[in-house]
Amino acid sequence: MKITIDLDKLWATRATLHGTLGLVPTMGYLHEGHLSLIRRAKAECDHVAVSIFVNPTQFGPSEDLSKYPRDLERDLRLIEPLGVDLVWTPTAEVMYPSGYQTWVEVETLTKPLEGSLRPTHFRGVTTVVSKLFNAVQPHKAYFGQKDAQQAAVLRQMTRDLSYPIEIVVCPIVREADGLAMSSRNKYLEGDERKAALVLSHALTAAKELYDAGERDAEKLRRKMKDVIAAEPRAQLQYVSCADYETLAELDAVTGKTLLSMAVLIGRTRLIDNFVLG
Ligand code: AMP
Repeated sequence: MKITIDLDKLWATRATLHGTLGLVPTMGYLHEGHLSLIRRAKAECDHVAVSIFVNPTQFGPSEDLSKYPRDLERDLRLIEPLGVDLVWTPTAEVMYPSGYQTWVEVETLTKPLEGSLRPTHFRGVTTVVSKLFNAVQPHKAYFGQKDAQQAAVLRQMTRDLSYPIEIVVCPIVREADGLAMSSRNKYLEGDERKAALVLSHALTAAKELYDAGERDAEKLRRKMKDVIAAEPRAQLQYVSCADYETLAELDAVTGKTLLSMAVLIGRTRLIDNFVLG
């Protein structure tokens, strides 16, 4: 397993990898969700590259960049047994050298949901993923359904910019009690861990309504809001029942649909989603 920081060393190692290459972009502090992406890449590609980079440009000014959890040694220990060929751990200076001024933006899909609360977030994501694609030149790139809007935005970017890369979206990995795994779960203190179950409970309640035949999107949104309102430690940021492709809010559920939400548990911001249909 080759670990590189600098671009020229990355390119030198990349040149030795023949056959198909799968890339798994991460911000580190790895958990089973990340490892499931790496295992899938390993199963589908001749070689696997993992990037670990806490990307400053996708954090807003009041967000948790400086306290985002980091533990590179632990990450490398977790990756080592999975047969990864290349780990790229660029610094911010390698990714955004002094004088940096080029950005990639997806216009419409970035506006609702996460984009409505984090207006500069996706510009940072699409820019850094473009740079990862250009530097690593993978055949396939692996992302989690956990960040459903991110996956939709990156599919759009890949199509629009004609990257010859297949975007593979992998299922959400959850703790045994249903909490979606996230590096940010580490912030949950005391009772907050239990309160965080309100996200998966709200999604399950809406899905049960849907399974019982409900197709009124507002009723599904209302159900999720009610479940969240009943948890005193939870502060709702948004709930959504939207078209899976366009992310536009629905009146009636007819095709593939994304139920999603962002909720503050104390000071920790969590997101989760289910796909219907
Ligand atoms: P992050 O390090 O949070 O930027 O996540 C890196 C990748 O792992 C993204 O594509 C995420 O969607 C994915 N991911 C994060 N959590 C999970 C999870 N619980 N299940 C599946 N994929 C995940």
